[in-house]
Amino acid sequence: MRKPLIAGNWKMNNDFRFGIDEAKKIAEYVETIKDDRDVMLCVPYTSLYTINDEMKEKRIAISSQNMFYEDKGAYTGEISPLMLKDMGIETVLLGHSERRQYFNETDEMINKKVLKAEEHGLNFILCVGETLEQRENGKDKEIIKAQIISDLKKLGKTAAKDMIVAYEPIWAIGTGKTATTEQANEMINYIRFVINGLYGTVVSGNIRILYGGSVKPENVKQIMEEPEIDGVLVGGASLTSDKFNKIINF
Ligand code: PEP
Repeated sequence: MRKPLIAGNWKMNNDFRFGIDEAKKIAEYVETIKDDRDVMLCVPYTSLYTINDEMKEKRIAISSQNMFYEDKGAYTGEISPLMLKDMGIETVLLGHSERRQYFNETDEMINKKVLKAEEHGLNFILCVGETLEQRENGKDKEIIKAQIISDLKKLGKTAAKDMIVAYEPIWAIGTGKTATTEQANEMINYIRFVINGLYGTVVSGNIRILYGGSVKPENVKQIMEEPEIDGVLVGGASLTSDKFNKIINF
């Protein structure tokens, strides 16, 4: 049985004090509900240490939104896996479409990050997704498969069994357009099939695969009813506790 995961991605939003206050409100809310779902927040680097420290005894996991694939060195502006670990961070989001689109992250770079995470025992959420054009040309599955195969190249089974995958169709992120629940469920089923081909049924049956793209309090219940969807990765609607708590309580 896969435990649902509700993860929020704050991106470059929520400054230091506001972020801490909202994280506390979310944590307080989570204390009041049954422990039948996991909750995670991917927060900006500037509040990563403080929020993680505040959330130590709480039922919320705190994740980084990215990291570099080297341990240290002359890489101005980057953050290393060792720095994350030193702060007590255990999870990192990798391959978000905004990283791919605005910062030219290639599958090769994402694969280096995946292998770095494995080397240092960091869990990761790998984001994959197709563009609208790729979907309309019937290339969506081909693209998703190619991303998974390239991004996970040489990743061992032990690390693979702890990974989380997020299917985020690029055309549905921050656009207000949501994939239909059937489209999302079908693609997530396909992702599990591809993972099965790479790692076998134990890994593919155990890993959690999330849907992301304009998830809101109004549509989360329907999304979570789909059998293959193990949770959601939420951008805009995770920024304030009032909305995100409603999503957590799907
Ligand atoms: C995201 O950033 O991963 C995302 C899905 O954003 P939004 O919910 O705003 O579409």
